[in-house]
Amino acid sequence: MNSERVALAESTKGWLLDGEGEFLRSLALSAPIGPFVEIGSYCGKSTCYIGDAAERRATLLFAVDHHHGSPEMRVGQDCHDPAVLDDEGQHETLFHLRRTLAAAQLENTVVPVVGDSKLVGNFWRTPVAFVFIDGAHDGKGVAADAALWAPHLLPGGLMAFHDTTIWDIAQVVDRHAETYPEVEGFKSIRVLRRPE
Ligand code: MG
Repeated sequence: MNSERVALAESTKGWLLDGEGEFLRSLALSAPIGPFVEIGSYCGKSTCYIGDAAERRATLLFAVDHHHGSPEMRVGQDCHDPAVLDDEGQHETLFHLRRTLAAAQLENTVVPVVGDSKLVGNFWRTPVAFVFIDGAHDGKGVAADAALWAPHLLPGGLMAFHDTTIWDIAQVVDRHAETYPEVEGFKSIRVLRRPE
C-alpha cells in the first residue's frame, strides 16, 4: 500500500488497533478470487486497507453500511463523535466515506452499499471471497450478520470479525468455528475459513 494511502487511512476516523489494517489487507490478499464485502465502513478507515487489496486483486469491495451509526455511537456513548452529525444532528457518515474513497483514489474499486446489512444480505446473490464483519457490535447484531453472510462465502473464503475481545462477539465466532475452521487472527480480529 503506498505511503499516501497509508497516511490517509491512519488519519481517517475509526477504531482499528495498530497493525489491524495491514493485517486485513494481507488477509484479503490471501482470499480466493472473488469480490470482498465489508459490513460497517463508517468513515472508511478499514475500507482503505481492504480496498487496497481489492485493487491489487482487480476485484471490488462492497462497503455495506446504513451510515446512521450503531447504538454505541449515540450521544453520551463511548464511540460518539459530534463531528459525524449532519446539520440536523443526525449521525451521517456516508459523506465521510465518500470523501475518504475519493482521496484514496479507490472510487473504481470500492462500491458503497447504503443500507442495513441484514436487508442487503437477504438479497445478496454473488459469492464472496472475503467478508469483514464490523457493523453491529452487540451479540444479536453480529450473530445476524454472520448467519446472513457466511453462506455467501466461496469455498476457501474468509470471514473476519472485528472486536472479538467483546465477549458476545467471541461467542458468535466460537459458534461459527464449529463449521468454518478458525485460522490465525491478529489482536481483536478473528478469522474463519469456509472449507474447500
Ligand atoms: Mg469495530
